[in-house]
Amino acid sequence: MPTDPNKARYYRKQVPLFRLVDKLKLWPSRRGILHGIKEFDERGSYAVVITHCNKRMVVHDSKKSRAARWLRNKWYAEACPKCRIPEWKLQKYAATHFKRGYGSHLHD
Ligand SMILES: [Zn+2]
Repeated sequence: MPTDPNKARYYRKQVPLFRLVDKLKLWPSRRGILHGIKEFDERGSYAVVITHCNKRMVVHDSKKSRAARWLRNKWYAEACPKCRIPEWKLQKYAATHFKRGYGSHLHD
């Protein structure tokens, strides 16, 4: 654990979805289950996500997608029990805020 998971973090509201997913290593499924990401393979306009419970998904980069909105609003019904997302990671996610015009753009 390199940093304090309870420390507040600010990201811009308009950060690209792929940057956000690559940073958070979390993926909210359509059914509201939050999965941990094992592999994130960006391939231009789309990316292949492999979760810790071995689900494979193809996702498209869009700031307006459902996943982007859910991640920014931190909406999920439950964390996937098979992915075993560590508590510090969920705390870190909970301490992350998205603001218009303020915070990191998550550039490399
Ligand atoms: Zn999972």
